[in-house]
Amino acid sequence: MVIVLLLLMLGQGKPAKNKDRFEALVSNSFNNKINASLTTTGALKMSFAKGQSLETLTREEKAFYNVLNQASTATDRAGRAVDVELKVVFSPQGHEKSLVMIGQYATGKIDLDDIENNFGINSEDNTELTQKALLGHEIYEQYMKQSGMALRYRGAHSVALFEESKMSGMEREDGGSRDWVVAGKSKGLIYTQKLDGKTFNIYTDKYKNIQKVEYGN
Ligand SMILES: [Zn+2]
Repeated sequence: MVIVLLLLMLGQGKPAKNKDRFEALVSNSFNNKINASLTTTGALKMSFAKGQSLETLTREEKAFYNVLNQASTATDRAGRAVDVELKVVFSPQGHEKSLVMIGQYATGKIDLDDIENNFGINSEDNTELTQKALLGHEIYEQYMKQSGMALRYRGAHSVALFEESKMSGMEREDGGSRDWVVAGKSKGLIYTQKLDGKTFNIYTDKYKNIQKVEYGN
């Protein structure tokens, strides 16, 4: 039995559904070798499924496990335990959601829609970049921030990217964003990224919800 003290503030909209979604996201990230559940106070608990252990996890699953474990045992500079908190953005649309692309460093908010979207980012051998890599990245950033190890976004983001590559098995590079214009009309933003050296574009609408992902220039 492993207990991760990762507090999740459930959204006001459909908290039960968000709870199910978050639990499924974590369990699926371990290919159900680990079962995740949230307590009523939002702490994440994990337990290995029958016959499973650290030894049966893949390298990527183990990397995700390590991130959760580090977050769950976080301490501040004075050595006091810190609960790393994430807040789920719940509404399907709206201003709040338009601020959060996957996660928002300053507020600790995450958007389950973006993470569940699975990005369609696949190198041939890894079709699930992947929910665990994206979720783990956000958790690691918040861990760095809330424990006081990194206070600025840049520093936290760069170490989170390093952890992410272990969780996805791929190297990712940020390439910035530009307007997504179709027939003279603005539809949102295109985020350009590189995965293992290949360029891909993530198209988001005005709420920063992912609409599609395409390899390209
Ligand atoms: Zn980041």
